[in-house]
Amino acid sequence: MKILVVGGAGYIGSHMAKMLSKSGHHVVTLDNLSTGYRDAVKYGEFVEGDIADSSILDQVFSSTRFDGVMHFASYIEVGESVIDPGKYFRNNFSNTLNLLDAMVRHDVKNFIFSSTAAIFGEPDYVPIDEKHPKKPINPYGKSKLMVEQALEDYEKAHGLQSVCLRYFNAAGADPDGELGERHNPETHLVPLILQAASGRRDAISIFGRDYSTADGSCVRDYIHIVDLCSAHLIALTKLVKGSGSKRYNLGNGNGFSVIEVIEVVKKVTSRSFNVIEAERRPGDPATLVADSTLARSELNWVPEYDDLSVITQHAWEWEMSHFNH
Ligand code: UDP
Repeated sequence: MKILVVGGAGYIGSHMAKMLSKSGHHVVTLDNLSTGYRDAVKYGEFVEGDIADSSILDQVFSSTRFDGVMHFASYIEVGESVIDPGKYFRNNFSNTLNLLDAMVRHDVKNFIFSSTAAIFGEPDYVPIDEKHPKKPINPYGKSKLMVEQALEDYEKAHGLQSVCLRYFNAAGADPDGELGERHNPETHLVPLILQAASGRRDAISIFGRDYSTADGSCVRDYIHIVDLCSAHLIALTKLVKGSGSKRYNLGNGNGFSVIEVIEVVKKVTSRSFNVIEAERRPGDPATLVADSTLARSELNWVPEYDDLSVITQHAWEWEMSHFNH
């Protein structure tokens, strides 16, 4: 297949481009490098450009007849989305419509969309399946849900087929050590703990010890980046073969509290570091765990690295090699 990976210089997109390429597919990455890194694009072709720019999109779609598009180019910080909602609605929603319109103009019918557990808001029940009510509590989650809703109408109007994959907590790194997570500023728990372990950070803060969970810290479902990517590859292959539009929640189905993640990292790295108890971070639900039964049964998707020790080990190897400690 010929695949356009939008946002392929970012964390998930760069791992995806590698997997597609290693599986024999032709990959073109389109990325504006606002948060991604040119040196993360190690596979396929690279075009620097913004999906807000219709002329770049027309050039890219005219130069290659794509079988499908995977879209990873979005802003992902919940807190920032509350402070600057326009940034999120403009890029994550409006610019995505620009991308979809270009696909319609160029008759490209298959779209894989990076969605999020944040579309569900404060859960009514866990684990969260696809039927769970969608009531996002921040602009980030809303911007993603709006795209999911728009996709239903693009399908009716233009026959554009899509798979929306709602990620729970992506973590880990390329087992070959070639790629990893590099956000600036970093806000995600696993890389932050690893930075504390490597000495790049003084301490790790636990955001809230008074949640209604076993140890009082928030519980999340951590999924290895490679497993996330394998779900995309299967979903796209099926979509191109005519499976029709689908929505899947992607996680391992195992919840780990912040304190448990810190303990796992201590074991994996054999390092000790300071742990601070801090205030709750606004907008954090107590527990987010995926019910991925549908993805497992319909996609035959089997996560390969569902052990948090392995997930954090791969991320640790990246931290050590890339940041040279
Ligand atoms: N968290 C924390 N300390 C940090 C960063 C995150 O306690 O320095 C918590 C956060 O409150 C949440 C969990 O770790 O409960 C995962 O946060 P992350 O930002 O990695 O992912 P999210 O669940 O927001 O997508």
